[in-house]
Amino acid sequence: MSGILVVAEARRGELRDVSLELIGAARTVKDAAGGRLAVAVVAADPGEHAQALALDGVDEVLTVTSPAPHFEAHVAQRALEALVESERPALVLAGHTIDSLGFAPAVAVSADLGFASDVVALGWEDGPTASRGAYGDKLVAELDFPGHETTLLMVRAGAFEPATGAGEAPVRAVEVALDDAVATDHVEFREAAAGDVDITKADFLLSIGRGIEDKDNIPQFEELAHKLGATLSVSRPLVDAGWMSNARQVGQSGKTVKPKVYLALGISGAVQHLAGMQKADTIIAVNSDPEAPIFSVAHYGVVGDLFEVAEALETHFD
Ligand SMILES: Cc1cc2nc3c(=O)[nH]c(=O)nc-3n(C[C@H](O)[C@H](O)[C@H](O)COP(=O)(O)OP(=O)(O)OC[C@H]3O[C@@H](n4cnc5c(N)ncnc54)[C@H](O)[C@@H]3O)c2cc1C
Repeated sequence: MSGILVVAEARRGELRDVSLELIGAARTVKDAAGGRLAVAVVAADPGEHAQALALDGVDEVLTVTSPAPHFEAHVAQRALEALVESERPALVLAGHTIDSLGFAPAVAVSADLGFASDVVALGWEDGPTASRGAYGDKLVAELDFPGHETTLLMVRAGAFEPATGAGEAPVRAVEVALDDAVATDHVEFREAAAGDVDITKADFLLSIGRGIEDKDNIPQFEELAHKLGATLSVSRPLVDAGWMSNARQVGQSGKTVKPKVYLALGISGAVQHLAGMQKADTIIAVNSDPEAPIFSVAHYGVVGDLFEVAEALETHFD
């Protein structure tokens, strides 16, 4: 067993961002793994994604044609089982995503693979190692997988930089008998209510926490975000209170974001919040408590009253 197999994801004819992040993750351990890096895509028309996946560092793109026009977990499972058997990789990387959750753990069980989900860091020491949160992300668990020739890791979206740079990987069509694998009828595709916004795409997030005290204060920060050209995001208590939609929640049970600027007002910096934003390019925190943990990740900090800072910003950008 050697080398890495990345399981790319496509949905409704479009490659999903996590695919390139998985290639980026694979490249961090490729040399240590000492083998080749293959990227597999299972789709009704997998060839349409081949070029986008043939990135620098990729040695081969494997295409598997699905008989189902839409994502079908049973098809993906059968295809991945066949690929693990034919390619014999030491490491398989899939996204920790809704689609992959439908088949990757099942493959790990049926093929008796080492396995971890929601992985946020990778290493290699005589085999793959992985880090993931434990006890609600209060601890970081460091895992290795002794006794397994192949390990499958599901990697959290946003945890790795997406791979860039075109390569020249050849494309190989892999034949897998999948016609009888389709076990569900696709009725219709409904996009999950994404709310009014995708905070993962914003360059500048103005993020507010319980420090804003009251629901009635929210319009003030919506207005401020508008003035600053920022997108408003929030910590979880504001979602739990029903003040804001969960589409705007940053953190472990919300979205992982990596904006150029993350301006946090009245957010303490609990580990579950930091898990979603600590990779932002520049973090600016405003908190009245000098001991607030948010300051441990902030590049710039203001110990002071968030309403005073908000007012000063509003006046400045009027
Ligand atoms: C399994 C699990 C998953 C979770 N997932 C998430 C998640 O995805 N995202 C998330 O955010 N949380 C999550 N949490 C909750 C998390 O543990 C914290 O409770 C939450 O992040 C706290 O939000 P906060 O910082 O807004 O509130 P608080 O911790 O109450 O902090 C409020 C801060 O505002 C400051 N403050 C108050 N008034 C002012 C003022 N006038 N000016 C300046 N500063 C002021 C205070 O000093 C304080 O630091 C999760 C928890 C669990 C157990």
